[in-house]
Amino acid sequence: MTCARIPTKYGDFQLCYYTNTLDKKEHLAFYMGDVSEADDVLVRIHSECFTGDVLGSRRCDCGEQLDRSLQMIANQGAGVLVYLRQEGRGIGLLQKLRAYNLQDQGHDTVDANLLLGHGADERSYSLAARILEDIGVKSVLLMTNNPLKISALEAEGIKVNKRVPLEAPVNSDNESYLLTKVQRMDHLLQFAPPSKPIKQRAL
Ligand SMILES: [Zn+2]
Repeated sequence: MTCARIPTKYGDFQLCYYTNTLDKKEHLAFYMGDVSEADDVLVRIHSECFTGDVLGSRRCDCGEQLDRSLQMIANQGAGVLVYLRQEGRGIGLLQKLRAYNLQDQGHDTVDANLLLGHGADERSYSLAARILEDIGVKSVLLMTNNPLKISALEAEGIKVNKRVPLEAPVNSDNESYLLTKVQRMDHLLQFAPPSKPIKQRAL
């Protein structure tokens, strides 16, 4: 619909507002530099996490990943962050907070979602692909630890030339969450293998 200049601590970005016919959400693109008709564009597909992105929650690594991806784009001088409004791996903020309570009772992040009647991950990347097409990105270097995100984008016709790891610091509040992502959601993080007690891994 429109784009506007947003100055950040990493430099000036353009924030572009999208509407769509699939949901009523306000998906966004936040980009820097010449990315239209470009190959090997540094791209982050970030799903909204109010608690992590805005409040700085230490329960997950979203806020750190958001910040680091913007920093990496700025270092490169060009890149796109697509901000998808699919809170809590697609289950919404209310259900995510309920899932947090289940996690505090001992369930991991996957089981908590399942207990609430949701899938482990209900996110979709088709709108992200349409946004990248609209911007005119020809191929991407995807900042992610999630191989499923790469295959989902490729299935939507986006050429992913390389994965760029995006690791956030581990702390006592997010380590079990991150380990679950590795063990149950196929995420690629520099963690100890599952057989090794988490406390022994090198930070
Ligand atoms: Zn998060």
